[in-house]
Amino acid sequence: MTKPEIKKLDTISAKVCKDRDNWECIYCGNGKETGNQVHWHHIVTRNNFQTRWCLDNLITVCASHHNLSPKSFHKDPEMFEWWVKTYPERYKKVWSLKGGSLKHQFEEVLKELEEA
Ligand SMILES: [Zn+2]
Repeated sequence: MTKPEIKKLDTISAKVCKDRDNWECIYCGNGKETGNQVHWHHIVTRNNFQTRWCLDNLITVCASHHNLSPKSFHKDPEMFEWWVKTYPERYKKVWSLKGGSLKHQFEEVLKELEEA
């Protein structure tokens, strides 16, 4: 995949993810209504192209729960455990994808996101 293709998929999947989560932190609910900015977070690192644009791997979080607070997805492993318990089906799907060896093709991923 080319850099512009990657960038395009990132932009689209971030928007689809935030729309799905109603532009609110999935952990505390802060977001659009409370005037908080929301971020886009990957459960499995974005370096993994198998799951980088998989909506099940993407979550919307406030800045605090993303990386600012000690209790954030980047600093506290318990946050990940919370996610697994809250979204067991997503966890199963993401973990079955992340070890895959085939790289996603741009067109294929784009289509998936546009249909989401
Ligand atoms: Zn939050």
